[in-house]
Amino acid sequence: MKTAVVTGAARGIGLATTQLFLAEGWRVAMIDRDAPALTDAAQGLKNVHPILCDVSIPEQVSAMAAEVAKAFGRVDALVNNAGVADFRPLQDTDFATWREVMATNLDGVFLTSQAIIPQLKETRGAIVNIASISGLRASTLRVAYGTSKAAVIHLTRQQAAELGEWGVRANCVAPGPVDTKLALAVHSPAIRTAYHDAIPLNRYGTEREIAQTIVFLCSEKASYVTGQVIAADGGFDAVGVGLP
Ligand code: NAD
Repeated sequence: MKTAVVTGAARGIGLATTQLFLAEGWRVAMIDRDAPALTDAAQGLKNVHPILCDVSIPEQVSAMAAEVAKAFGRVDALVNNAGVADFRPLQDTDFATWREVMATNLDGVFLTSQAIIPQLKETRGAIVNIASISGLRASTLRVAYGTSKAAVIHLTRQQAAELGEWGVRANCVAPGPVDTKLALAVHSPAIRTAYHDAIPLNRYGTEREIAQTIVFLCSEKASYVTGQVIAADGGFDAVGVGLP
């Protein structure tokens, strides 16, 4: 049975991705640092193995990778989805916030990939990193968030270059806005209106729509796709209207 490791799996896009993998017959290691949310999310799901882990802490990531190997014995896909957001301009962003965003959004992808790649090499598996349209386009806000996501896009290309030799693919999904807890915390009414106006499909995406793109990139259907950034964004990036 194919196995996926999904970080930030306790809610939002990570939980929808977990559910879609399960529907397609995969097993899932659900990784999150929020213990009550992880327990709730995993309850009632078959073929999952929840692991409490903060992806920004090296020791916890190493222990998580060892537990995945012990529980499942193989990994076919890694989805680096755990993320945090902060929407402020450079002059208003304190260093602690900058570090907190980088720690999860960038260090977390680096550490988790490094820990899981040996298992992916054995299966010629796939990595999908979750960036954002904020990593594709600059704005007057979100200096830390956008910079972290732009770095994730480059890290993805680096992974594709390094891992092709082992048949391991690495791609990136850049979602547009989705009404999750993360977005509800940072999307002001002005941002919501601007998104609706700037997105050709005139709406937010759903968790499931992002999950479908992720699971496709992990599947055999994407066997010749690597090093790419797929914007699942209702056409936002194609049109290129400025973000508030
Ligand atoms: P969410 O807040 O609903 O879920 C994020 C999950 O990640 C939570 O369960 C949280 O506990 C977990 N998490 C956060 N930091 C962690 C850490 N250090 N270690 C382990 N787990 C951690 O958010 P979401 O909207 O589902 O976001 C998922 C991903 O999609 C993020 O990378 C986010 O940046 C990206 N994204 C979201 C949107 C959007 O509009 N929702 C748009 C573009 C990109």
